[in-house]
Amino acid sequence: MSDMVVGIDLGTTNSEIAAFLNGNVEVLGPEADRMLPSCVGLSPAGALLVGREARHQQLLFPNLTIRSIKRKMGSTETVNLGDKEFTPQEISSLILRQLVEWAERHLHQPITKAVITVPAYFSDAQRNATREAGELAGLEVARILNEPTAASLAYGFGDAAHHSALVYDLGGGTFDVSIVSVEGDVTEVLASHGNNQLGGDDFDDLLLGRLEREFQTQYGIDLQNGYPVARTRLRWAAEEAKKKLSFEPYVRVREEALVTEKGKPLHLDVELSRAEYEEMVRPLIESTLDSVSKALSDAHKSPSDIDTILLVGGSTRTPLIYRRLHELTGLEPRQDIHPDLCVALGAGVLASRLAGHGVERVLVDVSPFSFGPSYLGERGGFPYPHCYHPIIYRNTPLPVTRTESYATAYPQQTSVQIEIYQGEDDDALKNLLVGDFRVEGLRPTREPNEVLCRMSLDVDGILHVTAIEKETGKSKHISIDRALREKSPSEIAAARERLKALYSSHAEESVEIDENEFSLEDADGVDEEAVSEPEDTAAASLPHALEMVKEAHDLIEHSQRLLGTLHPEDQEEAIELHERIHGAIRSNDAGALKKTSAELRELLFFVEGH
Ligand code: AMP
Repeated sequence: MSDMVVGIDLGTTNSEIAAFLNGNVEVLGPEADRMLPSCVGLSPAGALLVGREARHQQLLFPNLTIRSIKRKMGSTETVNLGDKEFTPQEISSLILRQLVEWAERHLHQPITKAVITVPAYFSDAQRNATREAGELAGLEVARILNEPTAASLAYGFGDAAHHSALVYDLGGGTFDVSIVSVEGDVTEVLASHGNNQLGGDDFDDLLLGRLEREFQTQYGIDLQNGYPVARTRLRWAAEEAKKKLSFEPYVRVREEALVTEKGKPLHLDVELSRAEYEEMVRPLIESTLDSVSKALSDAHKSPSDIDTILLVGGSTRTPLIYRRLHELTGLEPRQDIHPDLCVALGAGVLASRLAGHGVERVLVDVSPFSFGPSYLGERGGFPYPHCYHPIIYRNTPLPVTRTESYATAYPQQTSVQIEIYQGEDDDALKNLLVGDFRVEGLRPTREPNEVLCRMSLDVDGILHVTAIEKETGKSKHISIDRALREKSPSEIAAARERLKALYSSHAEESVEIDENEFSLEDADGVDEEAVSEPEDTAAASLPHALEMVKEAHDLIEHSQRLLGTLHPEDQEEAIELHERIHGAIRSNDAGALKKTSAELRELLFFVEGH
């Protein structure tokens, strides 16, 4: 039997353990989510509780529960549990011991060696305390590994190529961003910033406040005055609601008999929208972006020097985070490796290598394509019925379920045709139509009627699509069996014909753009594989040209809104860039347009970030 080495993420909120199993690195644990809450407690009867049970009692018995001990690692502060005093290392060792027991049960072998991760900013004292915690748990600590380095190992960045990654890590109670340079075995954390008092718990607090206010409005009762059990329930409900809002545009919070007054049960029943929630958490998310720009400038990097953004930590499932990072950098952040488990998996990769297994990266089932419905939107200033925006993005781990909200196009509309596409282009017609269906019998309304589209994709490539009229809950569902298949040559040819016809009529309307000069070859990085062949550039280049121009106009508009807040020199630079962008559009110079747009995006990034 080979020497087993495990990888451990000893987190502020949750901890996980990973090891080499069946040819891959896996996170081990009895719970479905394989996460151990980093909580230690004593029950009122005096029994030691580690993990979920300790976390459950934390609001009811705060004096008997210890959480976030990681924040005290390396300090001389001690904590009390019952009538005994413990060092942070001792408490952490109880968490480590529990993880090791999980792994030993799973692997049927004793475990004596581990790689343990720590934040990049941990001092020597904090690293030594972590090592000591491992030793107290009976482990030989083979390596102390930086968390962002672990994330980059999970993504397979330990190969020969050079990678520059921005690792954005937002967990339950802490936020870190690191700029990591990886080349072969050499990984360097170039800069790191963060806030060790910011995380998903703060998002929960904001939602909890919203629910408490709702209860007070309905019943005139302030739950902060003497209702600890009701508050514990609501905090729980707030976290669950928050998690659902990452995948659904609405969530209903129903808590039966939250309080009983004079023998009468008082219920809470409230619907929250993602839009409302995003406005609550936006300032917190914006503050993380300040740290992103500080880390970049400390590392002497600009967004264009970064190849990849890796999203780590459970709270990065919040869609607003993805959107804001994408807006600021132009990059598509990656979250194909389970964000809660990514650091443990990366520690597991190093641990497996130390144990002699040739592991390159973690293997996960992800969707190789994006999926979504077409909708009536705008392209190049014209209404366009084949706009496309994915609901399920490519590289999303499977299985996945996500829902988005759409509005009917005109008053009194009673039916909608839903067309589901596979692909990455924001023109649906350049993607692959994988299924369509008609929803009849909608309520005729004067205002736009809201229709939700829910999509679930499983590991076998079966896509389930449900359209739901939000107001009535009336729904229609289809299953598409071969959603993950590739486009056939005849489908590609048919798509090309459709596009030719469409864009030749469109081109007459948009006379300013010369489709022959504004060619795709100038705009590098544009992937046209989906439908066009090289000789067909005229048909294929125009939509991209239109799109680039539209994007540039949007960017200028955004920049104009910010002008008043800029320093005079930045204002001058921004105005000059606006003019150069207009000039590039007038002279149909795609290369110049791309370059000047990138410069303006970068200027705004730094201005907005600080
Ligand atoms: P971690 O410390 O990485 O385990 O992250 C834990 C935090 O992630 C907690 O605040 C969770 O509530 C949060 N979290 C987990 N799942 C989601 C989700 N689907 N959407 C938003 N936050 C989540």
